[in-house]
Amino acid sequence: MDCPTTASLWIDFLDGKLPADQVQKLEEHLRTCASCRLSHQELQQTLQGLASLPDEEPGPELRMEFTAMLEKEKALLASQSPVETKVVQIGPWKKIGSVAAVLLLVSIAYWLGKYNTKQSLNAEFIIPIETSNPAELKTLELLKNELASTRLVALHRSQDLAKPSTVLLDALIEKLNFDEHLNVRMAAAEALAHFPQEPRARIALIRALEEAEDPSLQIELIHLLVYLNEKKAIPVMKNLLVNKTLPDYVIEQVKIGLPKII
Ligand SMILES: [Zn+2]
Repeated sequence: MDCPTTASLWIDFLDGKLPADQVQKLEEHLRTCASCRLSHQELQQTLQGLASLPDEEPGPELRMEFTAMLEKEKALLASQSPVETKVVQIGPWKKIGSVAAVLLLVSIAYWLGKYNTKQSLNAEFIIPIETSNPAELKTLELLKNELASTRLVALHRSQDLAKPSTVLLDALIEKLNFDEHLNVRMAAAEALAHFPQEPRARIALIRALEEAEDPSLQIELIHLLVYLNEKKAIPVMKNLLVNKTLPDYVIEQVKIGLPKII
């Protein structure tokens, strides 16, 4: 059994519905694959954590947030090619409470990369699994690894993908903006610059330059945006020129780069 197949069987496995021979193959794979083992542990921990939550109805805030997320994903999915879908009944998880069930679904959906739904929270959930690109699935999985070195490998691997999905782009953007390691954030910026045909990637780099506080990241972003000849970055760079809090050597990079794209 390979990693993408393993990923596609998680839900049935956690649900106790996977046939015995498949369970055996999945467990065999877990023994030999560290990365799937880690994913499995994460899901188990999520389950255990959720089981301890009080059994109550989701509040309006959570409901709204969740519905908004689903709507966003539905819109994204509508614009993409057909994907294989998997229907998951919320029923078997009722025993851990409605809030917990919702959070568990969000967690699994996050892990799988994308999800969709037909109706409301209590209706049946459809989780599409993109099976067409195992390399991307693997990259998404590695990006979530707790070791920064593994996340760096994932960012490097992402550059081999010809056409990244929205899910992968979002994962790269998330690393750029929020990863705890500066090296990973810088590598995410570089990975995004490998997809110059994607407006989403370019916009993320511009926004990151607006927000970045670390001089190394600022310089990396300036270099990348100049390299991409990104005209939309001009106003942001002009603002940096008059920013009194920036170190001189960052301003110097703007002074060198800006004339090249104006
Ligand atoms: Zn694996």
